[in-house]
Amino acid sequence: MKVTVLGAAKEVGRSGFLANCNNTNILMDYGVLLKREPIFPMHVKPRDINAVVITHAHLDHSGFVPSLYLSGSTDIPALATLPTFELSELLIEDMIKISGFYLPFEYIDVVTMLKSSKKLQYREPFMVNDAKVTLHESGHVVGGASVIVEHEGKKLFYTGDINTRGSKLLRRADLDFGPIDMMIIESTYSQAEQAPREKSERELVEFAYEVIERGGTLFVPSFSVERAQEIACVFKAYNFKHKLVMDGMALKANEIMGRHPAFLRDAELFKSAVGGAEWIAGWSRRKKVVNEPCVIISPAGMLVGGSAIFYTQAIMTDEKNGIALVSYQGEGTPGRLLLDKRMANFDGKMQKCYADVKRFEFSGHNSRSELFEILDRVQGNPKVLTVHGDGPSCEKFAEEIRQKYGFDAHAPEQGEIVDV
Ligand SMILES: [Zn+2]
Repeated sequence: MKVTVLGAAKEVGRSGFLANCNNTNILMDYGVLLKREPIFPMHVKPRDINAVVITHAHLDHSGFVPSLYLSGSTDIPALATLPTFELSELLIEDMIKISGFYLPFEYIDVVTMLKSSKKLQYREPFMVNDAKVTLHESGHVVGGASVIVEHEGKKLFYTGDINTRGSKLLRRADLDFGPIDMMIIESTYSQAEQAPREKSERELVEFAYEVIERGGTLFVPSFSVERAQEIACVFKAYNFKHKLVMDGMALKANEIMGRHPAFLRDAELFKSAVGGAEWIAGWSRRKKVVNEPCVIISPAGMLVGGSAIFYTQAIMTDEKNGIALVSYQGEGTPGRLLLDKRMANFDGKMQKCYADVKRFEFSGHNSRSELFEILDRVQGNPKVLTVHGDGPSCEKFAEEIRQKYGFDAHAPEQGEIVDV
């Protein structure tokens, strides 16, 4: 078995790994790196691949898959769970609306991708010629999976994005992968320990009470898939007394997730949290709700678009109000500007934010110690590729794995081919 690294080499974004099993080629993820212009992984010829696996719906894993279907042919099976297909469609459609000009495909190619879909359950093997592909629950977003590829006695485990501690919304990742010969492991937080989840939860709920009890409104900008629903579930689990409001694309994600209770940790909690929230139906309601004592959850998580811009502008003018940042804030995003400088610049002029801004850690990725817990469970003596992190995170992580476990670990370059 050989693996070609097409993307996510010493960077977060545009994941793509090609597993070559003699004459069978299985592409694992094919995502985009979202910058002002989207950046794509290395090219593969669609006719050279036999199947594509999508670990989860986030665009840095799913966003470039439609480019494999430009010919209109449905010959390449796309493998993922049903929620991953539905959430990918939602996110890719939105990306086409925003960045369509830069993309080599259109919505019709997304339709072809969906026509080619083979919906897998977790642990349900799928044969691609004589190679076996199995998805394991990854705990990262609804429907998210790690991938196992087996061929001629060799076994590869690709974590995808992984969360082994679980959350209010999701069960923990399934790490029962057995002896392996190669591991491709994400390195996002390999050099960072995040705050314990309960601490973030408690502090967020306390902040919400503080803001509302002084007569303010709390705005929680959140990614529409997973984070928005996770935050709603946190408030519900803490029996939060005040009104919860959800808006934007998070509502469509709510509907999709609600259709797949088997993929949720606690479907009842999800139903009461999301069902108990007010879903904003239009502009007249949106304009009123910013003056009510409530918590508003709406995308985008980094304030790059969606109704988050309206909410930030409305909420930031009053010091009674609060803004809780619960997502990663990338360099150069309006969310980062707000966090670092307490300023916003949406329509060409810098404005001061008077509302109280706080940041809370709610990552869907493993922390450093949890990544090592995965490695502690490894049986066999696998080659390890550290990917999906910035350069130092991937390189340092590989060095630590070599020292601690003696595995042949390194941070691959884009285009590198690794033999097992
Ligand atoms: Zn992800």
